[in-house]
Amino acid sequence: VYELYGRNVQMESEEKGTIFVHRNRTKEFELDQMKSDLVSTVSHELRTPLSSILGFAELLLVKDLKPARQKKYIETIHREGGRLTSLINDFLDLQRMEAGRQEYEMEEVDLSSLMLEVVDTFEPNQPEHTFVVKDRLQYGRIHADKGKIVQGVTNIIGNAVKFSPEGGEVKIELANEQNMVRVKISDEGLGIPEKELPHLFSKFHRINDEDRRKIRGTGLGLAVTKQIVEDHKGRIEVASTEGEGSSFCLFFPLAGVEFDMEELPEGSE
Ligand code: ADP
Repeated sequence: VYELYGRNVQMESEEKGTIFVHRNRTKEFELDQMKSDLVSTVSHELRTPLSSILGFAELLLVKDLKPARQKKYIETIHREGGRLTSLINDFLDLQRMEAGRQEYEMEEVDLSSLMLEVVDTFEPNQPEHTFVVKDRLQYGRIHADKGKIVQGVTNIIGNAVKFSPEGGEVKIELANEQNMVRVKISDEGLGIPEKELPHLFSKFHRINDEDRRKIRGTGLGLAVTKQIVEDHKGRIEVASTEGEGSSFCLFFPLAGVEFDMEELPEGSE
């Protein structure tokens, strides 16, 4: 969006002229959009945990409660505080990455062992889901910020768990595809309506259907993951059938491989 405005000026030589100034207002409009998205997220996602923190803290202050009940309330306060922290962290992370101010600590990372580590953090906490890892990697070393990759894949596996029923299987497949490593994370969950797919990675975008309304979230996880993957010169793809499940593929370039752009799969630039 461009704004064009003119201003009459008097030149030194007494000639009259008009200076036209092009001002790129795209950023300002994006900022406005982000502010209004933020406001609507604030009203839901900040208020809900805050009011339960305040409510339970007040009960603890004014009531003479048994220790077991006190512990329950403190656990709730702790959980809701954690939720607030991750919303704020995701939001700030995304802003930093978008502004190109994120500093990545790059090292050579073995994706096979990294993925096993991530799955190990899920397994004890999600006993109602089965995690299956199929590692067909021949070369799995990528150049990456380990913490950021963990954050990105954790978002995707977290969603696979969150949006699929108890007893569901979450499959993690690793394979080489041309000069890339492909990490495919599939679930047997709700799936994603086709019309939602183009907006899925936008900030704050959530699907507002009957099944999903009660599942909490911020709509920032996928935007954060996409940004992380792209900052690693990779890409992310999604395929889904409503009612059957979804699969997300994350592609990362192998470490130490010279790139011939012609050889890369389409859309990877
Ligand atoms: P959040 O999970 O916090 O809502 P995300 O950005 O991670 O935010 O995801 C955006 C939306 O995409 C989710 O609200 C959900 O509706 C949909 N979604 C993401 N992953 C899945 C999945 N594996 N299965 C079904 N829906 C999904």
